[in-house]
Amino acid sequence: MHRAENLVRATDLSRTDRFWNEAAETMPEEALRAHQERGLAEVWHRIWNEPIPFYTRRYSDAGLRSGQVPDLDAIPRTTKNDLRADEAANPPFGSHRSVGLDQAVRISKTTGTSGRPVFTLMGERDLEAAIEMQARTTWTLGLRPGDRFTHPWPGGLYVSAAFTNFFYTRTGVLEIPVGPPATPDEAREHVELWQLLRPHGFMLTMSQLQIYVDAADALGADFTDLTAGTTVSLYDLSMNLPGPRTRMEKLLGCRIRTQSGAGDIPGFGAAECEYGTGVHVPNDYLIVQVVDPVTGRSLREGEMGHLVVTTIGLDANLVRFDLEDLATLDSSPCPCGRTGTRMRVWGRSSEALTFDGVPVLPVHVQGALDEHGAPEFQVHLEESGTAGRLIVSVEGTRPAAEIEDLLTGALGVPVTARMIEPGSLPRAAFKPRRTG
Ligand SMILES: [Zn+2]
Repeated sequence: MHRAENLVRATDLSRTDRFWNEAAETMPEEALRAHQERGLAEVWHRIWNEPIPFYTRRYSDAGLRSGQVPDLDAIPRTTKNDLRADEAANPPFGSHRSVGLDQAVRISKTTGTSGRPVFTLMGERDLEAAIEMQARTTWTLGLRPGDRFTHPWPGGLYVSAAFTNFFYTRTGVLEIPVGPPATPDEAREHVELWQLLRPHGFMLTMSQLQIYVDAADALGADFTDLTAGTTVSLYDLSMNLPGPRTRMEKLLGCRIRTQSGAGDIPGFGAAECEYGTGVHVPNDYLIVQVVDPVTGRSLREGEMGHLVVTTIGLDANLVRFDLEDLATLDSSPCPCGRTGTRMRVWGRSSEALTFDGVPVLPVHVQGALDEHGAPEFQVHLEESGTAGRLIVSVEGTRPAAEIEDLLTGALGVPVTARMIEPGSLPRAAFKPRRTG
């Protein structure tokens, strides 16, 4: 069969090739640092010379000048709210963009979980970089030409939908995009489709997994017959924890990998290799930092702080973009041979409930409850006068005191448990919301 050369690059690679792009993925540390410095210098030049008014205003106010590229930590951070405010002041698309609507070759918008949507406009270099980063991610997950990969991710203007068809095609992996299971009927249809097509890999959120397990039950089938021997990219923060991950791998008979990304950054994708050491960041496109949420200064490796990303070599510049996610970095050698930084994201900064100075994230609660049937739960702080109480509502019939002891021990702060009826918390069709 003839295949168009520019469409399918995978014909150059064999199934046994370890890396999608060996030169980029195993770049020595010094070469990588030099590459990132050149990339930042290009971004800095563009900001002042195009110019990009949003950044020149902010950076002039901070005493920065065009001629000299500052230390990254000296550059003020930008948040999604800053970009929204800029768009409100300079409608409709703001003064922060380096790719306008007329130059864009792809468009997406970030999920509207809060506030109004923010559009991502991608130029030609962004699309090419997105395809490269995501093809690399697909390969890192262990998928190879001839494999079939399925996911119920949204289509339309959803971020990955802007380029998903390009990168799967390039890897030679057959994508089976079924769309979110909005109703039990749709979920059963997806299960039947998978029984027919037998995917080698799945990408699922934990809530979707539960929906499909239930759908298979309703069909008199066992969902683990579909996952046995496959690779499952499970979007759930608890998969960063060895206990919950091993339990889930045994349950599904599969290999679990984690992936990370961010809709605001064109093509941002990163995946774990077979050693499960955290996701391998595409360091040739993204400079990632973990910083103190207040001062913006880089933290020591392993410390948890805000994830801040600077894009290099793209058309769409984002400089010191604070994703307001809590993350940790690790650049110790990985046995797979990939170099550079790996990261783990632990949750949204806004989801952290700080109690007596201790930040508590839903993933911490989930980790503690995992060995006890992994029930659904919600966490919130109840204010009463000057004192607050950390309330965890847990589905199930166990004595509340037992859950309280368990969580208080695991989290290091006093917890009030409220037991609620199994099945009473909503099952999100895409992403669960665990703070209220
Ligand atoms: Zn690795």
